[in-house]
Amino acid sequence: MDSEEDTYGPSKPEDRLLDHEECLKDGNTRLEERRALRTKYNRFKFWVLGLILLPSIFILLHSCKGLMPERIYKWTCEGQCWSNGVTNGTHEASSAGDQYLLGVGKADITGPVVEINLMGYADPKQLGTGLRQRLYSRAFIVGNVDRPEDRFVYLVVDTQSGDTAVRYGIINALKELGPDYAAYGHHNVAVTGTHSHAGPGGWLNYLLPQITSKGFDRQGYHAIVDGAVLSIKRAHESLQPGYLSIGTTKVLGANINRSLFAYLANPAEERARYNVSAEDDGSVEKDMTLLKFQRASDGKNIGILTWFPTHGTSMLGNNTLIAGDNKGVAAYLFEKSVKGVDNAAEGFVAGFSQANVGDTSPNVLGAWCEDGSGEMCSFENSTCSDGKSQQCHARGPYFRAKDNGASSCFEIGRRQFEPARALYDSQNTKPVKGGWVKSFHTFHNMSDFTFQLPNGTVVRTCPAALGYSFAAGTSDGPGAFDFTQHDGNENTTSPVWKLVRGLLKAPSEEQKACHSPKPILMDVGEMYNPYQWTPNVVDVQVFRVGQLVIVVSPGEASTMAGRRWKENVRDASAAMFRHDYGPSTEALEPVVVLGGPANSYTHYITTQEEYGIQRYEGASTLYGPHTLAAYIKVTLANLPYLAASAANPPDHKDGIFPPDNSNRSLSFVPGVVMDGTPLFKKFGDVVEDVDKVYQRGAEVRVKFVGANPRNNLRLEQTYAAVEMMDQYEWKTVRDDSDWSLVFNWKRTNEIFGHSEVEIVWETEEWAEPGMYRIRYYGDAKSLVGGKITPFEGVSEVFTVVTALRKD
Ligand SMILES: [Zn+2]
Repeated sequence: MDSEEDTYGPSKPEDRLLDHEECLKDGNTRLEERRALRTKYNRFKFWVLGLILLPSIFILLHSCKGLMPERIYKWTCEGQCWSNGVTNGTHEASSAGDQYLLGVGKADITGPVVEINLMGYADPKQLGTGLRQRLYSRAFIVGNVDRPEDRFVYLVVDTQSGDTAVRYGIINALKELGPDYAAYGHHNVAVTGTHSHAGPGGWLNYLLPQITSKGFDRQGYHAIVDGAVLSIKRAHESLQPGYLSIGTTKVLGANINRSLFAYLANPAEERARYNVSAEDDGSVEKDMTLLKFQRASDGKNIGILTWFPTHGTSMLGNNTLIAGDNKGVAAYLFEKSVKGVDNAAEGFVAGFSQANVGDTSPNVLGAWCEDGSGEMCSFENSTCSDGKSQQCHARGPYFRAKDNGASSCFEIGRRQFEPARALYDSQNTKPVKGGWVKSFHTFHNMSDFTFQLPNGTVVRTCPAALGYSFAAGTSDGPGAFDFTQHDGNENTTSPVWKLVRGLLKAPSEEQKACHSPKPILMDVGEMYNPYQWTPNVVDVQVFRVGQLVIVVSPGEASTMAGRRWKENVRDASAAMFRHDYGPSTEALEPVVVLGGPANSYTHYITTQEEYGIQRYEGASTLYGPHTLAAYIKVTLANLPYLAASAANPPDHKDGIFPPDNSNRSLSFVPGVVMDGTPLFKKFGDVVEDVDKVYQRGAEVRVKFVGANPRNNLRLEQTYAAVEMMDQYEWKTVRDDSDWSLVFNWKRTNEIFGHSEVEIVWETEEWAEPGMYRIRYYGDAKSLVGGKITPFEGVSEVFTVVTALRKD
């Protein structure tokens, strides 16, 4: 550690680390600090114990292995190596491709960070208590230079999924922006979620996911819709000619299959095709596809868009801080890493889109029983010695860190960022060729769709239903929607559940037969009271630019389901491409990616074989055993709209539409009544101040008299800031977007509306020595008239030093 400080410590002004380098070390520093302490402690312990009882060393070494990190990452080196290898100027590969209209944009979508249930784990008790990292919508627009009306916008939103109400909100708002935005509509807008399980909930269209969040939360819904629209606006305003290039790279150590037992039900020959090596055995996809955006005017890169599958469940079910999970970290690291680099444009946007995420987990050390047995959970059904799943928890790379998954989350984000950055810097991306930009979107009713399988068998899908294993949840999180926890118990924590539990419908014999072998727990697709519980009308959408084809999935496709879907699209596209590019052109292989969960949330999509196993993913495959085949069928039926010479797909106006429940949804989310201060105190007063001096790596803490952050979401702004004295001026050097700055809020008196804010800066080992202070931006609500008044609080000045004097 000391030698690292010597090498990288910013002792001279020219040594001062740039932002993009700093970020690379950000967040890991606490880990390194902890590691260093552990290492020292362990060394001492082993030495002493070794003297006393030599043989026990071996046992101890073994038992402490989990406490010792496998290796210490040289963040500092990587931070500097990245910028060294980068050259200025035009990318050779891109210049050989065709020109497109390209634009990127990013905007804040952070909803209420406290008192709202987090979306994903479906635990009504998991309420937000603050913010670790703001959430964003990242927009990527690709257009045809000659036919600018041919364009698409691909949104990567830090939410659990896309959603019907959110998508309606975005499309309606775009209409209101006037004729400049007339080109955007159902066909060419994709709203994909990163699948973060650490964002506020309550914004979804259907009743089922609203149950655990006490219904619909309008404030959070608007934060997402408005931010998404703002990101599109920014991308639209930045549209200019440019080049695209595409490549793939391996991402190792960032995902495993959490339902391997179901995956193994797929045919052995099929699995063998993807079994490349011990590291890449095919049970999950290790390939990341990266699309690079470069503007023509000066050859600078304006953004990247990647696809790679791993669940947004690195932040665990006990986390209560808002964050973008591992995809949010990867995007943050990438954007920071190119800041100030010559060939990256200002406002560079990095989108880390989710892919066939269904059966993947970022908790790569596997699922273990936390019952003292030291055993892994059962392979077939993820249970422990008591026959139940509650004790079964999957482990991330730093599962021993007591930070609710934050260290593991940062690490899994880093494991996606690094290969992406390496591919971006390499010459291993190929130009996108063929000026065509095409898209289609259709609403398809899955409740009763009869169609022929490729082998001639006629099959049908059924109204949505969830199987019993849905309630068991996964090893990434506790049982979903608290059905098992609260079944038959009046003390339910969700008022919505209380209201609707009586409405549960028993499935008909026909419905049971249609879903077989899934035993139906909840016949959600046939429940319309007080409004629909889950979608029956689903979004099927595909984009094409040149040889890149993007399948936009409304559900979480499993590894093999995603592969089959993509393979069908690849085969059909290849035939189309032979026509489009002509016989004289070198054959261009279609590059097919799958992004989602997008546009709506239709839960899971497994293969029929996996469905037969009925683990969580199979039980959550909504429309019966032929769900995947139906998605593929509808996709292929519409694929000809992507041909170079194809006419535009038909308008939606005569078709079916899913309902927009945003204006009729139940809501039991209480508003903020008022904020008050204890006697002789005012908002923003310091309750517990900072120390005078901190060693780099230490945690700086300060407490303020606070107010409810729901009074003002401070979108595009910040609740917390670290200010540094720089040449007689205070400058903000950290804010809510930084992983290392944590904003905590706590209600201290319900009756008088007192609350406390604690801001924690987990100082990084690269933090520049100097004078700092911490500022809190709050907004208080008065009881009379409900007026909201902004205020600020500021800590005493403190100093950060490289090492504390030991005298
Ligand atoms: Zn999921």
